[in-house]
Amino acid sequence: MSTIAAIATAQAAAGLGTIKISGEEALLIADRVFSCVGDKTLRNAKGYTAYYGKVHDGDTPIDDAVALVFRAPKSYTGEDVVELSCHGGLFVLQRALRAVFNAGAVPAEGGEFTKRAFLNGKMDLSEAEAVMSLISASGEDARAATLNALDGALSREIAECRDELAKTAAFLAAWVDYPDDEIPELTDEQMGATIGDVKNRLQKLLSGFDAGQAILEGIDTAIIGRPNVGKSTLLNALSGRERAIVTSVAGTTRDVLEETVRVGNVTLRLADTAGIRYDTDDEIEKIGVTKARERFDRAGLVFMVLDAEQELTGDDEALLELCKSRNSIVIVNKTDKEKNLSLDRVKEIVGHNYIVEISAKNNIGLDLLSETVEAVVGTAGFDPSAPLITTERQRSCVVKAVENLAEALGGITIGITPDAINVCLDCAVENLCVLTGEKATETIVNEVFKNFCVGK
Ligand code: GDP
Ligand code: MG
Repeated sequence: MSTIAAIATAQAAAGLGTIKISGEEALLIADRVFSCVGDKTLRNAKGYTAYYGKVHDGDTPIDDAVALVFRAPKSYTGEDVVELSCHGGLFVLQRALRAVFNAGAVPAEGGEFTKRAFLNGKMDLSEAEAVMSLISASGEDARAATLNALDGALSREIAECRDELAKTAAFLAAWVDYPDDEIPELTDEQMGATIGDVKNRLQKLLSGFDAGQAILEGIDTAIIGRPNVGKSTLLNALSGRERAIVTSVAGTTRDVLEETVRVGNVTLRLADTAGIRYDTDDEIEKIGVTKARERFDRAGLVFMVLDAEQELTGDDEALLELCKSRNSIVIVNKTDKEKNLSLDRVKEIVGHNYIVEISAKNNIGLDLLSETVEAVVGTAGFDPSAPLITTERQRSCVVKAVENLAEALGGITIGITPDAINVCLDCAVENLCVLTGEKATETIVNEVFKNFCVGK
């Protein structure tokens, strides 16, 4: 396999930047571009050692640097690895990387370091996926959860489930194949209990998926409502700055304004939209209204804002009606004023109880809004130390395994043969092995690493 290299740090001006080289010739290639002080060579260096010296391309000096040496298999990729820490200037790093290529390394593809780690057995597929989530993690829970996945929490849970099933399958097979031997019979009850237990564990993983996604990926959130109810004021209050223009003139917000904010333990990508009123003659406002509808349609969460001082209008009722079948929170704003709005009527139309009374202008009620967001998206009480499935790919493997187990349980109830039950169990085990990558096809593996950035 070729020796690969890439810049492993962010492509921006910084104090330090690192070039990572991995492969059989990593130390040789590094020696060609790096001169240690005191005539030492990296070729002879032990793992986990650091050397100070100069990076050069032939006779052209490039930068002072520190070389870190990792010896196979004790490195991220499981291969020999050298990390050259240079000064962070983009030009300097790129120049140093070119020197490394001139010395014999080839450019690493996106995710190739992590892919090699997977191929060398340093991590399984779900852990590799956690690496990617960790890179883009925002917020403490997201960081803790992905680190936990990287640490193998999900892999261990899946392995335990798989082993339980494999044990049962092996027992069943032995019992069928050697009826004369004195293998004690596995009763339907015992078998059903084991399979049911594993199925529950897998279903628990599935039920944590949406909350995990919300925490890892954030949620597109549309703020909708009639003009002048306080949508832009709410966006400003949540973002802690004057992001949107607020006036008492209805129709002030025309375009869609976006702002990413932390609300409770989730990241919301808020979109403040033009107030939705259908009888406007203003051409620009009309476009804004259309855009607001688009945002609403693809939002994962909707903040439907009402004005406490005013009675419900036809427009309000139409919007509440739309929120019925959606992840939505009704926000009753301007509670500092006289209240003329009927909450009972709101509840009746929207059909749920996620109604929060606030005053956006006075920053009142925002804590309750945070709690309600966590309740609606299911992240309240999110436990970052529990095993978590973090990708659609993992989810679909678990869904299939659960279906296999449901089939096995159904089979036991109607008394199908042990062979037939074993076929279901084998399928479930197989699906769990695809999840961890033990049985993943090359296509799946490539798909996993396709979205990685270069240098990881
Ligand atoms: P939008 O059209 O829905 O974006 O509404 P704006 O955020 O532009 O606010 C419209 C008007 O309502 C402005 O004059 C705000 O100052 C006012 N407003 C917003 N929130 C509150 C509130 O909590 N209490 C009171 N009294 N006025 C508010
Ligand atoms: Mg506005």
